[in-house]
Amino acid sequence: MRRPLTLLLALAPPAAAQSPAPPWAARLIAGYPGLVTQVTASEVVLSNGTRLPRTLGPAGAPLSPAPTTDPGRTRYEPFFDAIYGDCRKGTVRLRDVAWLHGRGGGSIRVTTANHVAEQLEAVIRDLEKLPPAMTRYLVPHSGGYSCRAIAGTSQRSMHSYGIAVDLASAQADYWRWSGGEGARYRNRLPAAIIAAFERHGFIWGGRWRHFDTMHFEYRPELLPGR
Ligand SMILES: [Zn+2]
Repeated sequence: MRRPLTLLLALAPPAAAQSPAPPWAARLIAGYPGLVTQVTASEVVLSNGTRLPRTLGPAGAPLSPAPTTDPGRTRYEPFFDAIYGDCRKGTVRLRDVAWLHGRGGGSIRVTTANHVAEQLEAVIRDLEKLPPAMTRYLVPHSGGYSCRAIAGTSQRSMHSYGIAVDLASAQADYWRWSGGEGARYRNRLPAAIIAAFERHGFIWGGRWRHFDTMHFEYRPELLPGR
């Protein structure tokens, strides 16, 4: 069980301008190597010179049952635009990655930025070691890159940045399919699959109050202690 983290996403109040770098600063710098260079008392500084207000503190949540926070729905878009590009402008760099070829998985499209494609290949190498009985959770996958908004919102999905993958929808539980707001938490995905993704920086959508158990996204800053 990972330790719960504190939600740090609120706009920094004026008093915070004097505060030291937050505890997540090191994870952010490590998770975006060569891209995030510094977290100051008030800003996140990127290597290309972009300076963003320090509003993008990561969040985490304990594993099931009953996650109570929503790190997947509280994202700071300008940060992801700066790191990965804007799909509406065609600036997201993409590559097709072989998805469990030996099990008939085809391929899946993700970004090459921030080593995401390579990290997904590391996940896949771990998934290939899992028993054949788990293939039904993985194949067919339900998509990687897709330039779209999160259902029911105007916020861009993490699929728009090429950093998210969806597993087999037939085995998935999703809050919208389970009655909508206030849906009772449910998950069928084996822990070994979740661990394979999170070991390489892809956080599981089943951690979120608005759960989406087929969804993983590359958010190394949310996964301490890897
Ligand atoms: Zn998804």
